[in-house]
Parts: sequence; C-alpha cells; structure tokens
Amino acid sequence: MDIEKPEEIKTESVSFVEEILKNDLSEGKNGGKVQTRFPPEPNGYLHIGHAKAIAIDFGLAKKYGGVCNLRLDDTNPQKEDIEYVNAIKRDIEWLGFKWGDVLYASDYFQKLWDLAVELIKQGKAYVDEQTSEQIAMQKGTPTQPGVESPYRNRPVEESLSLFNEMNSGNMEPGKMVLRAKIDMASPNMHFRDPIMYRVLNMPHWRTGNKWNAYPMYDYTHGQCDYWEGVTHSLCTLEFVSHRPLYDLFVDWAKQAAGDDKPLDDNRPRQIEFNKLNLTHILLSKRNLLMLVKEGVVNGWDDPRMPTISAFRRRGYSPESILNFINKIGYTKFDALNQMSLFESAVRDDLNKRAQRVSAVLDPIKLVITNYPKDKVEVYNVQNNPENPEDGTHEMEFSGELWIEREDFMEEAPKKFLRLGPGKEVRLKNSYIIKCPDEGCVLERDEQGRPTVIAAEYDSISLSGMEGADRKIKGKTIHWVSCGHCVEAEVRNYDRLWMVENPRDEVSAYSKEQGKERIDIDDMRHFINPNSLEVKTAYVEKWLLNAKPLDYLQFQRIGYYNVDPDSTPDHLVFNRTVGLKDTWSKINK
Ligand code: ATP
Ligand code: MG
Repeated sequence: MDIEKPEEIKTESVSFVEEILKNDLSEGKNGGKVQTRFPPEPNGYLHIGHAKAIAIDFGLAKKYGGVCNLRLDDTNPQKEDIEYVNAIKRDIEWLGFKWGDVLYASDYFQKLWDLAVELIKQGKAYVDEQTSEQIAMQKGTPTQPGVESPYRNRPVEESLSLFNEMNSGNMEPGKMVLRAKIDMASPNMHFRDPIMYRVLNMPHWRTGNKWNAYPMYDYTHGQCDYWEGVTHSLCTLEFVSHRPLYDLFVDWAKQAAGDDKPLDDNRPRQIEFNKLNLTHILLSKRNLLMLVKEGVVNGWDDPRMPTISAFRRRGYSPESILNFINKIGYTKFDALNQMSLFESAVRDDLNKRAQRVSAVLDPIKLVITNYPKDKVEVYNVQNNPENPEDGTHEMEFSGELWIEREDFMEEAPKKFLRLGPGKEVRLKNSYIIKCPDEGCVLERDEQGRPTVIAAEYDSISLSGMEGADRKIKGKTIHWVSCGHCVEAEVRNYDRLWMVENPRDEVSAYSKEQGKERIDIDDMRHFINPNSLEVKTAYVEKWLLNAKPLDYLQFQRIGYYNVDPDSTPDHLVFNRTVGLKDTWSKINK
C-alpha cells in the first residue's frame, strides 16, 4: 500500500515549509542533511490535528532522504502514561509512517540539568522563591515592562544550592522555581525571565524517583532538537512568539558545549504552520480526556471522537485522512475547515475501496407470490463495480425477502417511484417485481402498519438475462433473502457536537458561567443527544466473512465498516459516513 505520496502534494501552502527546507539544502546548510521529529506529549491519544503534523514531519523527511524521530515530550509526569505512548506508535504506523529512533525528552534530563547548572554559574539563571502569583503579577504587559524579582541578583552559590534542594524531594512544590535571567522589559513576554524548572515531587514513569524538579517545555524542546541533530523543527503557529527563546536556549546550549560554528548553521530551525481545525469537532487532549473519563463517549477510540484511533475504528482510511490534509495544505493563517470537506474526501476514497453489500436497516417482509416455493437462486454480485478486480461474491435470492420499510408506501403518490399498489421496481441484481393493485398488504402490526407485503415477479426480467432490460419508471431497490441473511448490530454515528465551532462556543459558554476552565457540564450543554443510534439489521450472509475494519458500502444507505467488537455470532457495523452530505444543509 503506497500511502506517502509527497510528490502529489501540490498545494502552494505546503511549498512554503518545503521551500525553506529546499533552500537550506541548496545553501549546503546542515551538511545537506534533513532531520525532523514528531514530538507529542504522551498525555492522551493523537487526534486528527496531530495527523497534519505527522504528515509534514515524516513526509518531508522521507521525501528528502532524511529521518524523522519520534520524540515523546514527557516533561510532565502528572499526566503521562505508557498507554498513550503505545497508542501514539500504533497510530503513526497506521498512517503509514516510520520513525528513525524513539526518543524521550526524559532521555535528556541529566543533560538539561547539567546545562542549567552551567547557566546558573554563568549568571544566566537564578532560583526565585516567589510564589507563582507574585511572578505572574510582575510579568507586566506587552506595552509595560515587568518588575525584576528580588532574587534575580542573588549569589550564584545560593542559586546552585537551592537548585539542588529543588530536586531533593524535600522541597514543597511551588516554593521556588529556576528562572532564566534574560530581560524583564523585553517586548517579547517569553523573554521576561521564563521559568526553566519547577518542583513536582512526583515519580516519572521512565526515570522513577531520580528527579523531583522537572524542566519546562521551552527550556527542553530546542536543546533536545539541537542535541539530536534536528535540522527543521516544525510546529504550529502558537509557537511563533516562542521562537526567539527557542533560539536563545539553543545558543546557550551550543556555547556551553563549546560549539562556536556560525549560529545560523548547524542548528535546528523552527518553522511554524497553521493548526488543523475542523467544524463540529473539538481538538484538545484535556477536553477529550474529560469526555472519556465522564463516560460521555466509550473510550478514546469511540467512533465519535476526533482521535486517529477513533477515525480508524469508524472506517476512515489513512489515505483519505492524508489526502484531505494535502488538500487543505499548510499556511501561516489559522482557519476552520468544513467537516463536510473532510467527509467528501472520505467518500471519494471509500467509493474506490468499499465492498458493496446489501443490508436492510428497517425491515419489512416482501413475499413474491408467484415465485416457486423453496426455490433459491444464487447470484454472483460484483464486490465493487468501480473496481472489477475486487471480484464477486455469492448472494442468494428466494421468494421471501426483507426490504426497507421506506421503499413501500400504501398510499403512494404518483411520483413515488418505489413500491406501492400497482407499482413496479427492480430488485438490485435480480428481477422486476410489481405489487398488485389491491391487497398488497398481507399482514399488519398492532398499530396497523404493514409488516408483510406481496408482489409478483416478471420471470424474464432477471438482470443480465437476454431481453431483460425492459425499462421501468420505478427505481432499483436493495433486499436480502429472509432465509439467507444474518442479524447484525448497526451503530449509526452522528456528530458529537450540535454546534459548528465547539471550541469557541463551549469556551464562551463556560466563561458566561463564570468558570476559569471548561468543565464537563459546559461540554454536555453542546453534546448531540442523538449521536449514536443502534439498530438491528438484516445483512447478507457473506458478511460473516468480513474482518474487523473492512470497508463496506451498504448499498443505497451509506459507508460502513466492521467494528473490532464484531464476531461471527454477533456482527457489529459502524456507519462511517452517509452516501450524501446531509449535514451541511441541516446546519445552514
Ligand atoms: P492539544 O492542544 O490538542 O492537547 P498539543 O499541541 O498539546 O495538543 P502535543 O502532543 O504537544 O499536542 O503535539 C504534538 C505535535 O502536534 C506538536 O508539534 C503540535 O504542534 C502538533 N499539533 C497539535 N495539534 C495540532 C493541530 N490541531 N494541527 C496541527 N498540528 C498539531
Ligand atoms: Mg501540548
């Protein structure tokens, strides 16, 4: 399976990152080497936004003969877990990419510590004993300089000894932090003596009890890139204002290592692109975790989630995800893309790969009164007319069929082109049938709704038979033979959010409620109560052979796939996407 096709990336926007990279190569920077990294924090499952970062980090490295390492950014032991690391690896592989090495920010804890000690000695860092509130108050505003900490010019020896205490395990978290001594009046707020280390006193799942003080993201990321030999450090736009600090810490690390090559060369270069942001979904690991913990969804891979594992389970193919990402491209401006655009990429892709099958989701029985009792015909039906190499499978036909309730109307208007008294339709791959003018309802339920209807078949109208191409006004409807089908659980998923832009709407609502951070009640306010409908359907027997994650089209209904919960005793199918876009209309 050929998943990565970077040469097919044609959008202008991709070339802005790629152009920089090509230019660096042509100038002979980094000795002609390309090395990138994908740096997720293992505090949740990857979501569709991460797929965009993955596609460019791995895609460009591959295209230019370089490597992309997987670097787990594990500097916050409070939220991280090995379960997430495993899920991250699975998802990257499923998207079709290969990493060079698997590395961890925690691999560099000792080096980062040693560098911090060196920086204290050089007078570039100090221990501040103020509370986080005091430090925040002294930050100033972009137009107003900040206030220097009273600890800023304390003796080096004092800072060194306190820094050691910060890591002793006996220091209360929040009592002190290590800060870089840069410029409290800088127009760039990140230069106003940023925090490098804080005390957490927590064991780390990789380093155990060795560390009690942990480095902050800004003090970690650039040096890890530099020590690893990353040439291009691609990230999203919110890091633009962090870039000068990233560069400064790299300079300090280079100087401390005695590396005096020109600063423009032999160093990682941070390039920022816009985040992926889609309508009707919320992409924030913190909020997604809340949905999982509160049981609003059934786990991280619930097909209503925007995670890569949920997309896999729902039946989106890796190719459709990557095609969509290529289509929207990489720019320098944040945008909100329509979910319907993504779904149409999914439909284009599934049209080519999904096996066509018949499933009746809301059944009513049809008896063909002139068909010989006990006779069974076996048809070879095409698995995918779009792709004849996919072959055929067998499907039985008999005089008793399940059809969709909505394909029959007792009092049908003239323009209703399906079944009703005196109306004629073609059964898919089979005969033309006609309901009698009178008495076509054979049985009814307690509410008087028809449950069994009658029709007669035209024995010389079988699809493919010579002379069988008689044109009729009625449509072609699908069916399964009552004696040759199996029951299945069908999970019809709909959007989880009722609003187009849950990210903004939920946070605005949360603020209105006077809250500082979004909580589960704020989210519940916008959750679609009908996001999952479970049905019992009749499907053709051939589906007993289907394997988890197989791509299917239930003809005339939608694209479905086989849920991993499915067993031959209890088939389970998930709706991937409908055949047509119904949502964009509803929401306008
Ligand atoms: P979230 O804010 O959703 O929790 P995050 O940014 O904290 O995500 P990380 O694990 O830190 O997640 O991100 C790993 C990489 O993925 C980073 O380079 C980040 O910039 C990138 N990334 C995260 N979200 C998106 C997105 N929506 N679009 C593109 N790239 C993204
Ligand atoms: Mg993060």
